[in-house]
Amino acid sequence: MSDEKNQKSISLVGAGLVGSLLGVFLAKREYEVEIFERRPDMRKNEISAGRSINLAVSARGLRALDKVGLEKDILKKAIPMRGRMVHPSSGDVNFQPYGRSETEYINSISRAELNKSLMTAAESSGKVKIHFNKRVTGMDVESNILNLYDETNGKTGGLNFKRLIGTDGSASAIRYELAKRPGYKNTESLLEYGYKELVIPPGPHGSFLMEKNALHIWPRGTYMLIALPNFDGSFTATLFLPFKGSPSFSELVSPFTLLDFFEKEFSDVTPLMPELEEAFFTNPTGQMVTIKCSPWNFEDKVMLLGDAAHAIVPFFGQGMNCGFEDCTVFDKLLSETGGDLPSIFKEFGLQRKTHTDAIADMAIENFIEMRDKVADEKFLLAKKVEKILQDRFPHDYISRYALVTFSQVPYRVAYDAGLIQNEILSELCTKLEMAEQVDLDKARTLILEKLKPFFDKHEVRI
Ligand SMILES: Cc1cc2nc3c(=O)[nH]c(=O)nc-3n(C[C@H](O)[C@H](O)[C@H](O)COP(=O)(O)OP(=O)(O)OC[C@H]3O[C@@H](n4cnc5c(N)ncnc54)[C@H](O)[C@@H]3O)c2cc1C
Repeated sequence: MSDEKNQKSISLVGAGLVGSLLGVFLAKREYEVEIFERRPDMRKNEISAGRSINLAVSARGLRALDKVGLEKDILKKAIPMRGRMVHPSSGDVNFQPYGRSETEYINSISRAELNKSLMTAAESSGKVKIHFNKRVTGMDVESNILNLYDETNGKTGGLNFKRLIGTDGSASAIRYELAKRPGYKNTESLLEYGYKELVIPPGPHGSFLMEKNALHIWPRGTYMLIALPNFDGSFTATLFLPFKGSPSFSELVSPFTLLDFFEKEFSDVTPLMPELEEAFFTNPTGQMVTIKCSPWNFEDKVMLLGDAAHAIVPFFGQGMNCGFEDCTVFDKLLSETGGDLPSIFKEFGLQRKTHTDAIADMAIENFIEMRDKVADEKFLLAKKVEKILQDRFPHDYISRYALVTFSQVPYRVAYDAGLIQNEILSELCTKLEMAEQVDLDKARTLILEKLKPFFDKHEVRI
C-alpha cells in the first residue's frame, strides 16, 4: 500500500450510531473506512439495536447530521417533543415547554431506524465497508494488531491496522486495552439505578393514547417513569428504579407486587399497558454508567470516540448528541489541519474531555431534577421565574437547558452558565411567592452584572 493510501485509510470498531456517522464523515473526506461490528446487520436481521428503543435527538446531533446532508431525511422519521408532560402523583397533569419558542423542541426517533439509515449512508458512499459479526477481542497496540472473533463460525484472526478509532460503546474493548497500559485513568461509575423498557401500545387506527408531542414523565422522588412517542402511535416507557431498597427492582419479583406498585404509583398510565407484566419480566434490566477516561488515544495510532470515551447517563438526552458532536469536532479538525491525523489523534481528547466531563455531570444532575424536582413547588417557581427572564431578556438570559439542547455552545460553558444562573435565581426567588411578582429591575441588574459578562467572554449568542 502506498503511503498516500495508508494515510487515507482508517479502521473503526463499532458500527453503532456514532461509528456509522463517523464513517459517513470520513467517506466525505475521501477516506477508505473499514468498520468491524460484532452484531449481525440489523437491516437484514430482526435484532434490537441495543439499549433504548427510541431516543431524543436535538441541536448538536442535528447539526452533525446536517453537515453530512442527512438531517432532513432523519427528521422525517422523528416526532417533535415540545415539552415535558408531567404526571404528578397528586394534582393535575401539567405541560412544561422545553423551548423558548415554537421552533425549539427535541425529537423522538427510533434508535434502530437511525442506526440503519446511518449504516446505509456510510456504505452508499462506496468508501465504507462494514464487516458484521466481527467482534474485537483484544488489541496489541505496540504492533498494531486487532484480534477478531467471527460470531458466525467461531474463527479467530488478527488484523493489521494503521490507524484505529474505537467507537465500540460504553463497554469498549478498545478502551479496556488502552486501560491496561501503566498510568491509564479509567473510571466507570455505575448508577445504582437500573432501567426497564415497557410499551404503551397504539390506540385504534394507530392513534396516540396520550399527548403525542411530549416527553411524558411520572416523577416520584427516588424513581420515575418516562415515555417517548413512536411513529406507530405507541410510546416506549422506561422505568428508572434503584436496584436495591424500597421501592426497587429487587422487590418487583412477582406479577402481584408489580401490578400493585404500578397501580399505586402510575395509576393513570397502567391501564394503557396491557402487556406490562410480560414486558417487565421478559425485558432485561439495563445498567447505566458514566465513563471518564484519559487519555483517549495511544500515540497517533488508536483513539476513542463516542460512548467508548465518555458514556453518560441518559437523563439529559445527550449521549448520542454528544457523540455526534464528537464527529463534527473531529471533522473540523480534519479540515483545519488538512487531514493531519497524527496530530488530531493526540489533540482530540485534550480539547474535548472538559466538555464531555461537563455533560456527564449535568446528566447526573438532571436525573435528580427529572425524578424529583419537577414535582417540587420551589423548583417549579424557579423554573417559572427562569422562563420570565428568558422572555424578558432573550439575548442576555439563556437557560442551561437551552444552551445544552438548542445550541452548540460548548458543554463546559453551559455548565458554568448554569452555576451563575442558579445564583441569580436563588437571589430572585428568596421570599418570592408567585413568579409573576419577580423583581425585574433586580433581575436585570443581576443578569447584567453576573451573566452577561460571562456570555460576552464566551461569545454566547443563540
Ligand atoms: C436508556 C437510554 C436512553 C438514552 N437516550 C438517549 C437520548 O434520548 N438522546 C441521546 O442523545 N442519547 C441517549 N442515550 C445515549 C446513547 O444511547 C449513546 O450515547 C449512544 O448509543 C452512543 O453511541 P455509540 O455509537 O458511541 O455507542 P453504541 O451505540 O453503544 O454503539 C457501539 C457499537 O459497537 C459495537 N461493539 C461493541 N463492542 C464491540 C466489539 N468488541 N467488537 C465489535 N463491535 C463492538 C456494538 O455492537 C455497537 O453497535 C441513551 C442511552 C440509554 C442507555
